[in-house]
Amino acid sequence: MEEDQSADGQGSGRYAPSPSGDLHLGNLRTALLAWLFARSSGRRFLMRIEDLDRARDAGAGARQLEDLVRLGIDWDGDPVLQSDRGADHKAAIARLAEAGLVYECSCTRRDILAAPSAPHAPPGAYPGTCRELSETERAAARERIAPREPALRLRAPEGVTQLAFDDLLLGPTVGDIDDFVLRRGDGTVAYNLAVVVDDAAMGVDQIVRGDDLAPSTPRQILLQRLLGVPSPPEVEYAHVPLVLGPTGARLAKRDGAVTLSELRDRGVSDAEVLSTLASSLGLAGAGERVTVERLLERFDPAALPREPWVWGGGSAD
Ligand code: GLU
Repeated sequence: MEEDQSADGQGSGRYAPSPSGDLHLGNLRTALLAWLFARSSGRRFLMRIEDLDRARDAGAGARQLEDLVRLGIDWDGDPVLQSDRGADHKAAIARLAEAGLVYECSCTRRDILAAPSAPHAPPGAYPGTCRELSETERAAARERIAPREPALRLRAPEGVTQLAFDDLLLGPTVGDIDDFVLRRGDGTVAYNLAVVVDDAAMGVDQIVRGDDLAPSTPRQILLQRLLGVPSPPEVEYAHVPLVLGPTGARLAKRDGAVTLSELRDRGVSDAEVLSTLASSLGLAGAGERVTVERLLERFDPAALPREPWVWGGGSAD
């Protein structure tokens, strides 16, 4: 792709938060790991704010970046705003369409649930209702849903329902593929398409993120291959364990003081938060004061905990 920043051979890692609010401890821990993976492997570290969803909180992206700085995390170049990258997203969809790999889908969620699933399809897969419509049927479907616009789906290669990849933390991982959405009916480009196009354009060859996104990775690898951009083994993936709240469910804002600012209001300093995150990763003793540079010296991906970390709430320890 024309903006590929990896032309000098130095790869890049990245952190790509969605600006839906302040980063909580789980997000901060993932960001710290992404930084450690990139810096310890001599890569650049890039930042991308995934702000495609227009309902997002406008100021959150800037606050997220400030919080990363408070922990000592730095990045190269200016953060990329995903909403500035529409032309590239559109061009990628056009390229897929030219190759006959895109079709319009007029199904509502209800239609999808009501449709019989295709034989051998993975559970929850799009049943293929709109995949083989004739031009006349497609025009009728368009008319039926007007003024709503149809979504665009990928025509996944016949018979490809699963794809395997090697994850640095999860090991060999297999996941389902279906005719997933590339562009929603409201015109918003889907996460899977945007992330693949943007990572390729930014020269990202190391993707570290929460393991809740591991099921999306096979779809993204398929897109990389179809678009002819780097894919594994050239691109490496590390899906990191999530942080759980006191109830055992994924950590959420409702679990109390979980952002840097909330913790500071309770008298917990940024340094203490970094120390807690580091000790949860086996990179510091309980209460030991550390800097991200010190953590970098100690970082060994092979020794990282593979289990979720349960955050007890209250103080930072
Ligand atoms: N923006 C996504 C999120 O915050 C992460 C995307 C990615 O790392 O691929 O969940």
